[in-house]
Amino acid sequence: MTYKSTRGGAKGVCFSEAVLKGIAPDGGLFVPEHDVRFDSLELAEMCGMDYKTLAAHIFKRYAGDFTDAEIEYCVDRAYGSGSRFDAEDPAPVRKLSRNLSIMELWHGPTAAFKDMALQALPAFMSVALKKRRRPEAVSAGTDAQGAEDGNQSRSYDTKIAILTATSGDTGKAAMEGFKDAPGIDIMVFFPENGVSEMQRRQMQTQEGGNIRVVAVRGNFDDAQTGVKRIFGDDSFRDAMLREGWQLSSANSINFGRLLPQIVYYFHAYFSLVRSESITLGTPVNFVVPTGNFGDILAAYYAYKNGLPVGRLICAANSNSVVADFINTGFYNANREFKVTISPAMDILISSNLERLIYDVSGEDEKNTSKLMMDLRVNGSYNVDRPVLSGIRSLFWADKASEDETKATISDFWNQYRYLVDPHTAVGLNVYDKYVISTGDLTPTVAVSTASPFKFNRSVAEAVFSSAKGAAGASAADVPDTDNISEFTLLSLLSETTGCAIPAPLQGLNKKPLLHTGVCDKDKMEDEVLAFLRREDQSAK
Ligand SMILES: *Cc1c(COP(=O)(O)O)cnc(C)c1O
Repeated sequence: MTYKSTRGGAKGVCFSEAVLKGIAPDGGLFVPEHDVRFDSLELAEMCGMDYKTLAAHIFKRYAGDFTDAEIEYCVDRAYGSGSRFDAEDPAPVRKLSRNLSIMELWHGPTAAFKDMALQALPAFMSVALKKRRRPEAVSAGTDAQGAEDGNQSRSYDTKIAILTATSGDTGKAAMEGFKDAPGIDIMVFFPENGVSEMQRRQMQTQEGGNIRVVAVRGNFDDAQTGVKRIFGDDSFRDAMLREGWQLSSANSINFGRLLPQIVYYFHAYFSLVRSESITLGTPVNFVVPTGNFGDILAAYYAYKNGLPVGRLICAANSNSVVADFINTGFYNANREFKVTISPAMDILISSNLERLIYDVSGEDEKNTSKLMMDLRVNGSYNVDRPVLSGIRSLFWADKASEDETKATISDFWNQYRYLVDPHTAVGLNVYDKYVISTGDLTPTVAVSTASPFKFNRSVAEAVFSSAKGAAGASAADVPDTDNISEFTLLSLLSETTGCAIPAPLQGLNKKPLLHTGVCDKDKMEDEVLAFLRREDQSAK
């Protein structure tokens, strides 16, 4: 399998290079050049596989230049014996009612779904890097672990420096993934006053010899703009390359992040077959809380690979650019950015939509380039009728307001004693609207993207406020969540609901702070240099 750009500027790129580059040289996104298709016989065979074997089976079809041994190494590190997930099944599916099941994607090291991909991407990169360094030595049976040999000649010695600006979840998941990855350093910038207390602690206590975290004096946009400026600065990039560093990013447009996400849609489907909720071949709907359109795009790829999918239900919060697009064909980012209780979905530019439009328009690279140019220049674009109806034949979309999201958290707690985080609640609220509007009772899997304990303030508010309304509860029984710290709330929520706090979120307030550096937004380059050269720097 080789890859090409959605804008026509690159073709025949192998998986390794697509993963190391992240974005195509023409600014487009890498997509597979050929269809991957599993027929019903093969699906029946895949249905019996455990997660790791299933992942390897699917990866083999996409990672064309990886040997079986290399793929084995990647899946083992991400989901096998070396795995950081808290159970053997990294994506357990729980049946809530006759037609509705929930797939929990938050059993990894940072308690959010980004771990599903970011536990695999670093392994892909290490293998790819090793191939690039010693192309002649790569064959089945070589040590695929990408370990440094120490005596390699300098000319092969390009390392990868991952730079990421984060509003909270991605940076932490990337660091956990890249921690101690051979030949890769990672630097994360977060807005000094723009993350939750839990998220700040998660980042500042991060361990690993190849990692640096620095707070930026400014908001998320300042941090993001700073990182983009560094990527766009040719002379800085060249200077880094001379010192042996290729800059790269771990954000969700990298195909190496999409590929691991395809696997769990198959896994959810097969879980329903194995539990006899459906028979093989029955269509299933998926509901996906959507931000950058990565997660739901992976569901679309699974559908194209032959998974029996009914509808893909795209759920947005009040920043509903994508949902509005699916309903009208008009993508319009010229609107107010709203800060919500589902912050990982607060986004106005959904980059991965480019891949869907390219595919549905029959791989029309000219049209895709034009639309993306419109987006850059005008902040908006319009697709043709046939493209829109192509999208709407599979996708259905709507949004959930803040109040609806909170009400959904309490409803699911009251009705099922099942605790959901605000992102998952957005999905469940939109699913409700879907059923009311269409009457479609096809078996459905709702994707749960974060542990409720990662967003415990809004979850506690929703759960405790519904307790307030309950008969027999006196106001004195109900805590005043406003005046309680996030760490106290965490234990309170766990005691009240009887749900266990995920291990990675426990004891965070007692861990030593390893990264207390703060820099000005125009000094980020200096921080990068100081870190990569391991010079004395303000960040320590
Ligand atoms: C990133 C994220 C999302 C959105 O996923 P996309 O792939 O960007 O659409 C939803 N929920 C949580 C908790 C996330 O971290």
